Amino acid sequence: MIRSRWCLPIAPSSQPIEQGAVVIADGRILAVGPATELAGRFQPKALVELDNHVLLPGLVNAHCHAAMSLLRGAAEDLELQAWLTEAIWPLERRVVSGEMVRIGTDLAIAEMLSRGITCFADMYFFPEEAAACAARTGVRAQIAFPIIDSANAWCANLSEGLHKGLKLHDAYRNDARIGIAFGAHSAYMLSEESLRKTLMYAEELGRPIQIHLHENAAEVEEAFKRVGRSWITHLAEIGLLNPSLQAVHMTQLTDAEIELVAGHGVQVVHCPHSNLKLASGICPLPRLRRAGVNMALGTDGAASNNALDLFAEVRLAALLAKHEGGSAAEGAVADMLRMATLDGAKALGLDHEIGSLEAGKQADLIAVDLSGPSFLPVRDPAAALVHGPAGGAVSHVWVAGRRLYAEGEWDTIDMADLRGRVQGFA
Ligand SMILES: [Zn+2]
Repeated sequence: MIRSRWCLPIAPSSQPIEQGAVVIADGRILAVGPATELAGRFQPKALVELDNHVLLPGLVNAHCHAAMSLLRGAAEDLELQAWLTEAIWPLERRVVSGEMVRIGTDLAIAEMLSRGITCFADMYFFPEEAAACAARTGVRAQIAFPIIDSANAWCANLSEGLHKGLKLHDAYRNDARIGIAFGAHSAYMLSEESLRKTLMYAEELGRPIQIHLHENAAEVEEAFKRVGRSWITHLAEIGLLNPSLQAVHMTQLTDAEIELVAGHGVQVVHCPHSNLKLASGICPLPRLRRAGVNMALGTDGAASNNALDLFAEVRLAALLAKHEGGSAAEGAVADMLRMATLDGAKALGLDHEIGSLEAGKQADLIAVDLSGPSFLPVRDPAAALVHGPAGGAVSHVWVAGRRLYAEGEWDTIDMADLRGRVQGFA
């Protein structure tokens, strides 16, 4: 049993429970409610008491390139195309290896856990290494293997990449924490034939596709030159727009494209820091929400952020929504917290298992200590999480009932050893 000053279940109610408790058994949530009521019903084998904390579901980072944490700070003050072609891709050609992905993913997981992220969606080379890191550290993950037409450090061509990816899917087919997905890099990096092939395999296996889409205006202009229509229209024609598609970025959207995306139930992942840092644009959260699109949040990789802190994305996305919508009512506290948890889980097809503190769900939860001066006095714990510096106040993290982080210490990561490996790499 974990007792906490406040419990924020997200669903079925977005209201905080004062002096709440969560009971966990066999990695799942057994009950959620007022501590006094649950104390009468259960005799817990272990009790955690959190006097100044708010307990909530673990955050879902719906878009990341974990291993790029090793490229943090390697390319600053460049817009997307220059960032990719002049800095990141040449650097990746030199440094990407299985070892790099192992060290970088461990580093990213350590950072994400310390910021309250219990589930992340990854997309990078050597996905078998990233999956092994997630398996070893106990975090939950959607590992999307990379799909690109050109040769790279991991595969010589698309066929080899698909072959390796399908083998990886087989290896994790029955894993409760790790799911394999298709990481189609972007419409501009894949031929129509490759997109069709990806869709065919993804549908056959019933697995999601994640893709970078309409990240900036130049990408969309290129679409009109190459295929005579926007990439979203192009994907719609091919049949890729469906509820299993996770479209990342989406900063350039006409009203017709929003209708198209909403009509097909596409999941949209908003990465505000990365988009602002690369001057890509702003994903129109209020317009997408009004159209009924399910929205998730992502940090993107640390080379374009530079922190893997989803609470920081929540705060920024809330502010941008108010600006974009021209109304302070946009980006409301409850909506933003739901976006970082349950809606993020839905985007990854995991909302039946995670995203809220409800009986029967996986016990993926975090505690945030609100006793620091930035939060006092606590009038509304939910607002404190959205508009206060909550990422730095995460105190405890559990995934499937197993504690992975507490008070600055990691239970499954040797931080001194990891620091040495990171310094050895850099
Ligand atoms: Zn990305």
